[in-house]
Amino acid sequence: MAARVLDGTAVAQQIRAEVRPAVAEFTARTGRPPGLGIVLVGEDPASEIYVRAKLKSAADEGLRADLTRLPATASLTDLLAVVEGLNHSADHDGILVQSPLPAAMGDDAERRVFDVIDPGKDVDGFHPVNVGHLVQNRATLAACTPSGVIELLERSKVAIAGARAVVIGRSDIVGKPMALLLLHRNATVTICHSRTVDLPRVAATADILVAAIGRPAFVTREFVKPGAAVVDVGTTQVTDRALVERLFAAGSKRRDAFERRGSIVVGDVHPEVAEIAGALSPVPGGVGPLTIALLLRNTLAAAQARAQGG
Ligand code: NAP
Repeated sequence: MAARVLDGTAVAQQIRAEVRPAVAEFTARTGRPPGLGIVLVGEDPASEIYVRAKLKSAADEGLRADLTRLPATASLTDLLAVVEGLNHSADHDGILVQSPLPAAMGDDAERRVFDVIDPGKDVDGFHPVNVGHLVQNRATLAACTPSGVIELLERSKVAIAGARAVVIGRSDIVGKPMALLLLHRNATVTICHSRTVDLPRVAATADILVAAIGRPAFVTREFVKPGAAVVDVGTTQVTDRALVERLFAAGSKRRDAFERRGSIVVGDVHPEVAEIAGALSPVPGGVGPLTIALLLRNTLAAAQARAQGG
């Protein structure tokens, strides 16, 4: 039987419908909309698309969103100066520096940027203070993508408490906060990574399996317990025709999209998993729209906290 679809687009719409009136109320009360400052360094094509989507979504829900662009040749000092400016801006409640940063900025550039963002404006939830609050289960600003996964599971009535959850991926921005959020909802959590021994066997113990790896179609049928809920966080732009032809049948929507554009975004979960999972989030239309919805909600929360002097 085909897995139930965990519809991220629909859940994101619900969240945005909750954010919209609260944004209007905030704007009426304070005389200004919640403000988001986005910083984009360089011209990475995928980042351009993500940033455009974030700007449009913010505007659609009544937030103010401003983009500061820096050239790929900008120094880390230049970037930190822009962040400092946003830290002191009265109009901006949230700051988002789009990843990835140019390699020339150095291996630890992202960490150094996260360290400098005012924790109260850290709508990505990456500042060490916010990460610490997350560890202690008192986060006000938690990372958007894993928070979106929790919303998707809860609003789709997937039981988390008592479930065995396996998260594949241990990055600071997805895997680790994902594991903590599941733990705080009383799942029994295992975190896997590239050095995990016998990964398919470990993954197949999961009632809830979250794949956040960045390897297209890596999670095959053998990784999945029949009936499990599987959330596919991965997004990889694929141009390899042979891979697309292996994954998607001729005449399918995904194949047609590839024929039109020459590339498609593919998740970490192999399409065959739909035959064995109980529920599965699609790519696209799964976690991606939720990440944006949670960014808007975090910006609103940051604005409300600042307005109360928090
Ligand atoms: P990342 O920083 O590259 O981390 C990837 C993780 O996967 C690492 O922990 C790595 O293990 C693990 N991994 C890599 N190859 C593996 C293998 N063969 N077996 C087991 N584990 C393996 O990536 P990320 O930033 O967490 O993002 C993960 C994916 O999610 C990417 O495709 C990204 O584009 C996507 N993403 C989507 C959204 C969205 O809104 N939809 C948002 C954020 C990220 P090690 O630690 O051992 O290297």
